[in-house]
Amino acid sequence: MSLNTFAPRASFLQPKDLPQLSKNASVIVIGAGAFGGWTALSLLRKGLHVTLIDAWGPGNSRSSSGDETRVIRSTYGANEFYFDLNVRALQLWKENEKRWGKKLFLNTGVLWFCYEEKTPLVDDSIPFTAKHSMPYTYLTSDELKRRFPQINTNDIHHAYLDSYGGYLKARESCQAVNEAFIKEGGKYIQSFVTPGKIQSGIQQEVFLSDGSSRQADVYLFACGSWLGQLFPEELANKITCTKQEVYYFGVPKDQSRVYDSLPVWVDVDGSDFYYGIPGNTERGFKIGVDRRGENFDPTHGDRTYNPDVLAHARAFISHRFPGLKNAPLLESRVCPYENSPDGNFIFEKHPDAGNIIFLGGGSGHGFKHGPALGEWVGDVLV
Ligand SMILES: Cc1cc2nc3c(=O)[nH]c(=O)nc-3n(C[C@H](O)[C@H](O)[C@H](O)COP(=O)(O)OP(=O)(O)OC[C@H]3O[C@@H](n4cnc5c(N)ncnc54)[C@H](O)[C@@H]3O)c2cc1C
Repeated sequence: MSLNTFAPRASFLQPKDLPQLSKNASVIVIGAGAFGGWTALSLLRKGLHVTLIDAWGPGNSRSSSGDETRVIRSTYGANEFYFDLNVRALQLWKENEKRWGKKLFLNTGVLWFCYEEKTPLVDDSIPFTAKHSMPYTYLTSDELKRRFPQINTNDIHHAYLDSYGGYLKARESCQAVNEAFIKEGGKYIQSFVTPGKIQSGIQQEVFLSDGSSRQADVYLFACGSWLGQLFPEELANKITCTKQEVYYFGVPKDQSRVYDSLPVWVDVDGSDFYYGIPGNTERGFKIGVDRRGENFDPTHGDRTYNPDVLAHARAFISHRFPGLKNAPLLESRVCPYENSPDGNFIFEKHPDAGNIIFLGGGSGHGFKHGPALGEWVGDVLV
């Protein structure tokens, strides 16, 4: 989860020169992560002929969407665009999980630990909570301690509880979206895609790993961290991939309820921006480090953790949750952040081809927005 505070670009809010598709148009979406999967489903539901292609499958372990869980929260400081997008995403997550009979959104709430009286990342979102009638609860340090004795509150000035957020089952959601996509008439292919040549401002085809080609009116590349490698001239400097780590610690044998009942938490002011997802019992007490890691190759990069990063995370967890001081490490995950220069998503046309669209730059905060972003992209294109 990335805690960047950034202003949305005007170009993002009013995308220009994008193709306008009729109901009979055909689209190939490359990448079945949170962005591509939901966008393919949205375009399909608008009546288009959609083929979705992924090299290793929806929610695969190399992808950014491939971890167990992702935080869903509306809080974005003064950035109303993402607050609103998340409110719509929450509605769509709930609608779709009901439609599919699957539990994907866990409404645990999100607890924001604030070290200072003023914490702009949270405070500046408060007006939007009023607008949407989604009020947060202010907890003094003492109230926090009484309510959640598992937390060391000594250095916390206050906390806010957003009771509308929580976490999403990440890789499972990508698979559910893909299942729905196929069930509703979409075509899914598992293959690595290589872009074709651009002639007279148009890409004629894309190539699959078996040497065959596929044609469509429009090609939407939602390839996460791979976008910079697939389009080096256009995107290598715009989408950078960094190595990010999350850890799953084992809670004491008689206390799984004690820790599982905590909301998702975010340590807003700490230097490494730690956050955690406690309620996913079978995997352990998850802690994530938002500090940007080293540059990373999403295909070949080694997925073992960096001992220094783990040591810092362990020191933090011992401090914030003293009962977990000697908690064993059960699992670790390395997932790539696909960072855009300013943390905003990228939804743009290829500069030389009118029928190639880039969708990416999730920048460590894109997962939750998947359904609303897919819907918005569909509305813009159709
Ligand atoms: C550690 C970590 C924590 C995060 N925490 C949160 C959080 O708490 N909340 C939140 O909302 N977001 C969070 N994010 C961000 C979020 O996970 C990403 O923004 C989101 O998953 C990006 O989705 P995507 O579809 O763009 O990319 P991906 O999920 O990476 O999907 C891209 C897909 O494209 C496929 N692909 C690539 N190249 C090709 C090719 N040539 N041919 C065919 N297929 C190809 C890949 O196999 C992959 O499946 C986090 C990210 C990380 C890494």
